[in-house]
Amino acid sequence: MSGEVNPFESLQEQIDDAAAYLDAGDDVIERLKHPERVLELNLSVERDDGTVERFEAFRSEFNGDRGPYKGGIRYHPNVSRDEVKALSGWMVYKCAVVDIPYGGGKGGVVVNPAEYSTAELERMTRAFAEELRPFIGEDTDIPAPDVNTGQREMNWIKDTYETLEGRTEPGVVTGKSLDTGGSEGRVEATGRSVMLTAREAFSYLDKEMEGADVAVQGFGNAGSVAASLVDDLGADVVAVSDSSGAIYNADGFDPRDVKQHKNETGSVSDYAESEESMTNEELLTLDVDLLIPAALENAIDADLAEDVRADVVVEAANGPLTPGADDVLTDADVYVFPDILANAGGVTVSYFEWVQNRQRFYWPEERVNDELERHIVSAFDDLTEAFERRDLPNFRTAAYVVAVQRVVDAYRKSGNWP
Ligand code: GLU
Repeated sequence: MSGEVNPFESLQEQIDDAAAYLDAGDDVIERLKHPERVLELNLSVERDDGTVERFEAFRSEFNGDRGPYKGGIRYHPNVSRDEVKALSGWMVYKCAVVDIPYGGGKGGVVVNPAEYSTAELERMTRAFAEELRPFIGEDTDIPAPDVNTGQREMNWIKDTYETLEGRTEPGVVTGKSLDTGGSEGRVEATGRSVMLTAREAFSYLDKEMEGADVAVQGFGNAGSVAASLVDDLGADVVAVSDSSGAIYNADGFDPRDVKQHKNETGSVSDYAESEESMTNEELLTLDVDLLIPAALENAIDADLAEDVRADVVVEAANGPLTPGADDVLTDADVYVFPDILANAGGVTVSYFEWVQNRQRFYWPEERVNDELERHIVSAFDDLTEAFERRDLPNFRTAAYVVAVQRVVDAYRKSGNWP
């Protein structure tokens, strides 16, 4: 893991790389490289022993030209102002690439949730929701789950908001549990779009998914679901990892069984079917057909990229490759399908949840999965069309060319600007 690369600078570099192929004007591009506003908070939360602890928290609202700000809330000790700014910018371009009517936002609290009780996390989340209340709403800014948050936290945010507002507004937050206004298919949605992107990528590149060797770095929600769904397509998931380390089996694992083991024991590391344990870095440099980085930013920097031997990389995490790594992999003809397409299933099904909440009319899972597939396949086709027509260096630049153009169009056609 590289601690050196600032993700906000990576985002800006990715936008500049795409802008070089667009006729958008430097002034407009400059505007699209900075958040509209960043809220910085200090939450005072009572611990179970009666003492009060201060938690630093952020919410960045990056751009609202295409719709309300949209994006998750992350609980992690490495959360920082620049990380949240970067993640909120990636949301803008992610929503644009799959063409859903949202801008981008992201929030975070600097905390390791494993060190706190459920009651403490509930008080912290409700304190954050109270502070966010003037800024969020179904037409303004809509939080969702991200690293270390899920249905439980979203339910707390919705309940706090609705109690203070004195009305129901389930669409204020997405990723809720089914019984409080969540959508079928939302939990699996990020992993599902990773699988769909990998499937489309393999078909585009004339590669067989049946029997392909796959390594998955990170076995949280996105990584474990992606692993199970590519396994369903006939691929062999030969290596998986989490923060405890990586496991390998040349014949492939049953990802659902590994997930059950992780749920029971807290980690993948001592799974019985493992032939060999290795580090996360060793997993990332395995000679596989498909590599899925599904953990955090900067997992692969330029140095590590020199050793990557996968044919195709599909990014389940946000920002797992540094711009330096992108350059190395482009030169080495490793095909990278970027986060803003591959993991966009999460926010796409969040959009379906929000539509269902607003209509008070709920869809069966089959409809959710069909609509998701339609959005991801159509975005994949837009991206490869731009890649070929403009002779772009890689698929990330193609995704940003499509996405930045859509945001520029929304901005200019609002009529307020020349
Ligand atoms: N946190 C997810 C992401 O990075 C989902 C965001 C959402 O559903 O709004 O895309």
